[in-house]
Amino acid sequence: MDIPTRYNPKEIEDKWYKFWEEKGFFEAGVNPAKKPFCIVIPPPNITGVLHMGHALNNTIQDILIRYHRMRGKEALWMPGTDHAGIATQNVVEKAIAKEGLRRHDLGREKFLQRVWQWKEQYGSTIIHQLKKLGSSCDWARTRFTMDEEYSGSVREVFVALWDNGLIYQDDKVINWCPRCQTALSDEEAPYQELQGNLYYIRYPLKELSLTSPEPSRGKGIVSYIIVATTRPETMLGDTAVAVNPKDRRYKKLVGKTLILPLINREIKIIADSMVDKKFGTGAVKVTPAHDPNDYILGKKHKLEFVNIMYPDARLNQNAGNYKDMDRFQAREVILKDLKEKGLLEKIEPHELAAGHCYRCHTIIEPYLSKQWFVKMKPLAKPAIEVVKKGKVKFHPKRWTKVYMSWMENIHDWCISRQIWWGHRLPIYYCKKCTEQVSEFIVNNSESIDKRGSTNYELSTMNKKGIIVSETKPERCPYCGSTDIYQEEDVLDTWFSSWLWPFATFARSEVVDSSKFIAHRKKLRTANHKLRTDLDYFYPTSVLVTAPEILFFWVARMIMAGLKFMKDIPFEDVYIHGTVRDIKGKKMSKSLGNAIDPLEIISEYGTDALRFSLTSCASQGDLFLSKEKFEMGRNFANKIWNASRFVLMNLDRDKVSVDLCVFFKKENLRLVERWILSRFYSILKDIDKSLADFRFNEAANLLYAFIWHDFCDWYLEISKNNLKEENTQVIMYKILEKSLRILHPFMPFVTEEIWQALPHRGESIMIQSWPHLQEQFIDKKLEPHMELIYDIIKSIRNLRSQINLRPNQAASVSIYPYKESYRQLIKSNSDSIINLAKLEALNVLDSGSRPEDTLSDITRTADIYLHFRGLIDVNRERVEIKEGIAKQTQIIKSKKARIKNRDFINKAPQEVIEKEKKSIAEIGNAIKRLKQMQDELR
Ligand SMILES: [Zn+2]
Ligand SMILES: [Zn+2]
Repeated sequence: MDIPTRYNPKEIEDKWYKFWEEKGFFEAGVNPAKKPFCIVIPPPNITGVLHMGHALNNTIQDILIRYHRMRGKEALWMPGTDHAGIATQNVVEKAIAKEGLRRHDLGREKFLQRVWQWKEQYGSTIIHQLKKLGSSCDWARTRFTMDEEYSGSVREVFVALWDNGLIYQDDKVINWCPRCQTALSDEEAPYQELQGNLYYIRYPLKELSLTSPEPSRGKGIVSYIIVATTRPETMLGDTAVAVNPKDRRYKKLVGKTLILPLINREIKIIADSMVDKKFGTGAVKVTPAHDPNDYILGKKHKLEFVNIMYPDARLNQNAGNYKDMDRFQAREVILKDLKEKGLLEKIEPHELAAGHCYRCHTIIEPYLSKQWFVKMKPLAKPAIEVVKKGKVKFHPKRWTKVYMSWMENIHDWCISRQIWWGHRLPIYYCKKCTEQVSEFIVNNSESIDKRGSTNYELSTMNKKGIIVSETKPERCPYCGSTDIYQEEDVLDTWFSSWLWPFATFARSEVVDSSKFIAHRKKLRTANHKLRTDLDYFYPTSVLVTAPEILFFWVARMIMAGLKFMKDIPFEDVYIHGTVRDIKGKKMSKSLGNAIDPLEIISEYGTDALRFSLTSCASQGDLFLSKEKFEMGRNFANKIWNASRFVLMNLDRDKVSVDLCVFFKKENLRLVERWILSRFYSILKDIDKSLADFRFNEAANLLYAFIWHDFCDWYLEISKNNLKEENTQVIMYKILEKSLRILHPFMPFVTEEIWQALPHRGESIMIQSWPHLQEQFIDKKLEPHMELIYDIIKSIRNLRSQINLRPNQAASVSIYPYKESYRQLIKSNSDSIINLAKLEALNVLDSGSRPEDTLSDITRTADIYLHFRGLIDVNRERVEIKEGIAKQTQIIKSKKARIKNRDFINKAPQEVIEKEKKSIAEIGNAIKRLKQMQDELR
């Protein structure tokens, strides 16, 4: 069977993918005869479109899955998608905006219908794209975080946390996105550097008769204090000014009263060691409702909390004349008014870091609001332990430290979102009871205040009337009323994805009670035949993920696994690099520097995309340009061409599939022993690289072996002995086994070729991984063959220097430096003669130079090429002379160039280095030409 002359990925990829899928090769289930190997996919958002980050992430997962499947494991790659609360809601809001509608125009129910419609229509785009990538997921299991079953697990976990006292409601200053109009967790509001200003504002003192030497202006009379702020509009919510108690400038002023400009509220000067003496003037405004640190100060000093904004960041009734202005518009007007009143001291440019909404990039407003939180410290503790003990391992190792420092400083998790798309909190209120509670609070407000009750205490009391339940209760358990309504907020998207490693397994398998833990206990004591998927595949084996979601997701999965399954969710976490462009900028659609993986697939083929990405995936970030994918394409073509050669020359009688080869080493030529040794050496190294999650190393080993060792040397040398049985068997076996090793990296081209080779079985993807035969590895022998290659390369160089055509057979004399080299060269003279296109090879006894020869030196011998009769010596000498003149000219101009200041200052370091290297190379070429000039005299 032959294969076409040219490799065309488009013709074969869909065909093989369909074949694998239809045959059920991706499916996995409980198999007591095998060890499980399981990866859960980081579920892409239903709004997702395949980008290079996905391509990298999923290629690596597929390599691991296919590799372990071939190694005899029951390999399950669990697929699914995430409902992506805010992101999806934003997309659908944009869509209905085109019809002139806002979500409130539709109402909750109708709006959610539109989101589900959108999901049905577009939500599987990314899944289809993952299939184009060759991903061998068990698609029948595809999960969605809003599936009925999955949602059941979410509610169950919420109730369990509530029962454990780990969920509470509180008023806190949280990250608020005024555009999305919802609370965000700290992780969802990453800081970005901004160029802003520091505004210095004068706050007048109520009593003007104070004297003080320090912050006075001139006459020893203090009439105001200057505060510095980056958000002047928030001054309307100030309820104090704070100074450090050790700050001598303000010592006498602590306890005095200031008049808050523009709003004329009386506020006190307080002292607290939290204040940084070095920031601004050392006196800071305190806005407890609009800053997380001021919030703490406010609680501590029992200050008033004045909220000055509506949820959309327009100012509210507490902002006096500025009511209804947008926060940034108000900033301008306030600054103008302050200036007119002579209260704006100065403005300084100031670099600051502000939180930005990770979904819409709007600047976050720290905002006081009532939200639901999960207490994280008790959950973090065991999750720190398992990493410390090495039960969960991070690769590369440096991520362990990042994980630890976050976990050790963990904050409570704000889990409520004021959006509609998502899991509604399973919290119900009894109208009657809650009314009673409010009444109680109103009637007892004085005594509650005296006790210094915090909102947290109030919310504890509020529990009367709150019902937390997986299903809607029919009656209030406190009063029996049926007037019950559900909480409006939905849960943070990550509150569902942190259950991914176990909630993806069918809940229906959870016998009897739906409690995971009870279920597992039961199974552990039961007969093995009763094992369910969950019990068989959990803990999963590896998690492959991007660094951005280490805290969002990875850390929380570890916590959830330990809490609800009483076991880690995965043993290894591989965190791959970030995909960047060649200049180092992160690839992104908005920056316009993204390379579309589907375009690469269409142009170069999926295997080219996969292989190039893998070979760039070192332990750090990836720097990609479109050209880098040519490497993968060229490699696929190289394999294709070599395989065609083998197929055309294969004698099918000699290489039956069942053939068990017992080579006797003494019957093998050096080159045969060498290629076998090389093959098993790289097989061993690849196993090691994959075990260490060094994917680029594995890819590059394979590349070097197949391209250089197998194609360039072994097949070339074997051309003379193609009919011999050993050659036939080795050629076939090495190719077939190399394809198997290559399969996880390049699944399509390997399947197409493998099917054309003599084979047994339906597909290469379910073949076993080649068995390591250590007896063939001979590390002493490998260098011998390399010495022979040195000699051949050297003769080829000499030939090209005097422009010999391939059909011009030349004679060569060799003087080996040692007796062992003499033997080595003699026993491989056939190979040298053939590959260097020689008519004669003399091995010299003496080191004296033969007449009329060009010479070269290798590690083992002097090489002399006899030129008499092959070339026109006179013409050659003229050409060499011209060559020397030309190269000398070039080197002169290059040297002048790198001495030029202008060039040095402007050119990138890379270009300068390249220029220097080129000068050195030309220098060597001139030296070589001069030597030839001597030799041709
Ligand atoms: Zn937003
Ligand atoms: Zn009630």
